[in-house]
Amino acid sequence: MNNLVLQIDKKGILLDFKGQMENFLLTSAEGILGKNIYDIMSSDIAQSVMRCIENALHTGDVQGCEYQSPTSEHHYELKFIVNGKDRVFAFVSNISDYRQAAEKARYLAHHDTLTNLPNRYLFNDRLKQAIAHAERGKKLLAILFLDLDNFKQINDTIGHRAGDQLLQIVADRLMKGVRDTDTAYRLSSDEEAFVVARLGGDEFTVMLTDIGNIQDPAKVAGRMLNALSEPFNIGAHEIFITASVGIAVYPLDGKDVDTLLINADVAMYQAKKQGRNNYQYYSASLNDFTIERFSVENKLRKALDHNEFMLFYQPQIHISEGRMIGVEALIRWLQPDLVFIKPSEFIPLAEETGLIVPIGEWILRSACAQNRAWQEAGLDFFPVTVNVSSVQFRQNNFVETVSQILRDTGLKPDYLQLELTESTIMYHSENTNKKLQSLQAMGIQISIDDFGTGYSSMNYLKRFPLSTLKIDQSFVKDLVTNPTDQAIVKAIVSLAHNFNLKVIAEGVETKEQLAFLRECNCEGMQGYLVCPPLNPNTIVQFAKKGKYL
Ligand code: C2E
Ligand code: MG
Ligand code: MG
Repeated sequence: MNNLVLQIDKKGILLDFKGQMENFLLTSAEGILGKNIYDIMSSDIAQSVMRCIENALHTGDVQGCEYQSPTSEHHYELKFIVNGKDRVFAFVSNISDYRQAAEKARYLAHHDTLTNLPNRYLFNDRLKQAIAHAERGKKLLAILFLDLDNFKQINDTIGHRAGDQLLQIVADRLMKGVRDTDTAYRLSSDEEAFVVARLGGDEFTVMLTDIGNIQDPAKVAGRMLNALSEPFNIGAHEIFITASVGIAVYPLDGKDVDTLLINADVAMYQAKKQGRNNYQYYSASLNDFTIERFSVENKLRKALDHNEFMLFYQPQIHISEGRMIGVEALIRWLQPDLVFIKPSEFIPLAEETGLIVPIGEWILRSACAQNRAWQEAGLDFFPVTVNVSSVQFRQNNFVETVSQILRDTGLKPDYLQLELTESTIMYHSENTNKKLQSLQAMGIQISIDDFGTGYSSMNYLKRFPLSTLKIDQSFVKDLVTNPTDQAIVKAIVSLAHNFNLKVIAEGVETKEQLAFLRECNCEGMQGYLVCPPLNPNTIVQFAKKGKYL
């Protein structure tokens, strides 16, 4: 069925035509004979037409092209047949209906008609592509296999039509649950990062690509279960449903489509066995890991609101003068069951989840307020040292936060010292330097924690405005017996002095260690030999003693 036949010569001049077609020709039929096709067609069709004419004349074969009008969304098929040595017939058909039907058929073949979600066929296809992608990029990928609990029973009770409606709402809620953009749990802004499909019946699958770590699928599974926990109102019924989810991770649990799907299914049955309404990883070892971490993370989220954190303070002592020169604030987490959790156990998790930002702000505020309170209680003035996590330091508003806290608490900047690790200040050093300069300009001192354990480049010592290096306790521990540690400690002290920095040794537990440090001219020490970290009230008594060595 041709709607339009044109006769065009090799220069593109329209010699004759039959039929009519809106949208394809720019003008009405009147007076178009003898015009160049560029004057009667939009330039992109005219370009393809010219190319086809040239090819047809050159090869003598039939040429064809398709064209979709960008404005009218019409599809055209064009066929060119040589007519003599310098002209062609062009047969133009509007194939829009055919195209739409084909598109629709394609969509139907790839989607579930009830929920409009991708079907098994499309899901497997996407999964295959994603596996190839993950393999190339050495990425993790997860399959979540979700099956509604007791769906058959519900379906039998409320009838199939209501059952279908329920499945449609389930599909919507699953999509929302997966897409949820809660920042901490966010997977990716990329819409392509996941596919939710209905395999049939009450079985749904989700593919998560590019997952950052092994816990991400569990977070999504948790969100999906959550999304189903609200009651479903269908007709007069209020229905409660739960689901069981199995998780398989590429490449741990399988490297191809079939294995991953089978293993996610196996894990789903495991979840059913565990009492339904839960999720399980195929690799059982991942379950404990995730649950353990999950529960600590949940507790950590609440700890700040529930006032479970407190700061202890460890005195720093001047070695030759024996007086107290400051205190270091060290966080303690006392859980409601009165279990103390060490910072080394929860700080990394707080950093990973971003919780360190509010927690770190609380630490700074409490330490500054505490130091101001000591000053008002009549103690000698000394600086409080606060450990700053790299995640916290990298916040754009870090300097403003510090200065706001000083204003709020009324502590002078001279009595605040910030402790950063080497890796913190080596990251993005341009920006770092600006921040350090601003802090120094305010009067705040900067010390480097755990010196010698991080970067070997010492270039930063002369670039950044620092005041103190802290010798890590790993060098102090065997100081008396280990000549290498002795050499390192001596080197750090003389390096610091060459750069006009003070040195404080950490973890000093014995008189012998102290004697060695004194001999090296190390200014300060911190450690159980004099005092462990104390609560703020005990510091008041301690500070009154005056002389400690
Ligand atoms: P750090 O800043 O190097 O702190 C020194 C650690 O050595 C503290 O451990 C302290 O209790 C311990 N210590 C003090 N004297 C001795 C001693 O004589 N012998 C031994 N063996 N250890 C001693 P803590 O409080 O468990 O803190 C561990 C790490 O956790 C800290 O290392 C610091 O990196 C981090 N941390 C502690 N509090 C905070 C905080 O408020 N904010 C941030 N961002 N990190 C903190
Ligand atoms: Mg420290
Ligand atoms: Mg340290």
